[in-house]
Amino acid sequence: MSRPDLNAAIAARDLAVLWHPCTQMKDHEQLPMVPIRRGEGVWLEDFDGRRYLDAISSWWVNLFGHANPRINAAVREQLEQLEHVILAGFTHGPALELAERLVALAPPGLGRVFYADNGSSAVEVALKMSFHYWRNCGRPRKTKFVTLANSYHGETLGALAVGDVALYKETYAPLLMEVLTAPSPDCHACEPGESWEAHSRRVFADMEALLAARADEVCAVIVEPLVQCAGAMRMYHPVYLSLLRDACDRHGVHLIADEIAVGFGRTGTLFACEQAGVTPDFLCLSKGLTGGYLPLSAVVTRESVYQAFYDDYATLRAFLHSHSYTGNALACRAALATLDIFAQDRVIEANAALARAMAEAAAPLADHPHVGEVRQTGMILAIEMVADRAKRTPYPWQERRGLRVYRHALARGALLRPLGNVVYFMPPYVITPEQIRWLAGVAAEGIDLATRD
Ligand SMILES: *Cc1c(COP(=O)(O)O)cnc(C)c1O
Repeated sequence: MSRPDLNAAIAARDLAVLWHPCTQMKDHEQLPMVPIRRGEGVWLEDFDGRRYLDAISSWWVNLFGHANPRINAAVREQLEQLEHVILAGFTHGPALELAERLVALAPPGLGRVFYADNGSSAVEVALKMSFHYWRNCGRPRKTKFVTLANSYHGETLGALAVGDVALYKETYAPLLMEVLTAPSPDCHACEPGESWEAHSRRVFADMEALLAARADEVCAVIVEPLVQCAGAMRMYHPVYLSLLRDACDRHGVHLIADEIAVGFGRTGTLFACEQAGVTPDFLCLSKGLTGGYLPLSAVVTRESVYQAFYDDYATLRAFLHSHSYTGNALACRAALATLDIFAQDRVIEANAALARAMAEAAAPLADHPHVGEVRQTGMILAIEMVADRAKRTPYPWQERRGLRVYRHALARGALLRPLGNVVYFMPPYVITPEQIRWLAGVAAEGIDLATRD
């Protein structure tokens, strides 16, 4: 078989047995599958030798590039020692050391780490822990969760229930617990002339009213701090989180910060909550936690929460929740190597320059006749394509304009994967300013093509 046939041959085998995530498989009758043979830094390489710049960090997980030599070395070393061990009744160095370091890095007041093995599971853990905390404290009537419109917290039934992206949720509505939904502080909905801060403050009034009326039944409010990533990269001002922290305290309700996507530097600080100076009661981490290497998640909570479960066995107050791969040693070791890179390379500082390069490279797009908004929070930049710029009328979703950008980018050697009509960059931190400028050019061409008719 000549080399250029390899991609097609692998795609054909794949389509005979695999069912891919978040995909209408029939699309692949038109849309070629991209089989990846290897990765290095920001690049992915297919079996025909074509390269793609991974501008979305392979679904927001990769931080320091593919096949990062430092993370590779750490995982390789760990592999020779211990791959995995049950974490009930047993412990190991990487799980312990990672917990110590997460506690040291997390907002002050969070002293306990509970591991799970993916983001949705971390959300389930936080929801169950919050409910169970109140039950252990003699408040069994607290059974509800408050969520924001347009939020996303994962795909398992509990996580899906507290999310609000109709595309993923609506079909399963009959299976889901009921939640209380407050409007999103999303600043795409700012009134003309209104600042992000003023908008987020104004929208908070609804949350305050909801908590004032229903706090007796509410366990926790769950939010994605600063950026609703799956909800089309909609962004809001940190003041909303400060107001929310204060209101949760006044009304006796937990605050769950789902930093699964925004954690580990994406918003410009290590954790997004830092920008509001708040400590949540539960901090959910995953995705970038292992640098994008292995599935792992952590829920970091307060000692006071832990103490509400700490009692004689027969009181049945323990948190009897587990996942088979809880605290996997290889994953914890990849996470430790990732945290080492943050410390050794002063990544947060270096990213400030990359974020400026992203802003400059994408700035011309703000004047495009079919771009309604270019918005940015740290290392996340989003470009919203619209049918009518003045009225900000969205394109009908059925037109799948974003898919046209995706196809154009692939042909040019970039992996951009728009969310509906929103093209975004969320690159690994090893991208260069020159690559950012090239990427913005590819995105601009793609947007031109996708909005031509
Ligand atoms: C991706 C994501 C999740 C779910 O994580 P999985 O590992 O995909 O289950 C939860 N919350 C947010 C904010 C996410 O972006």
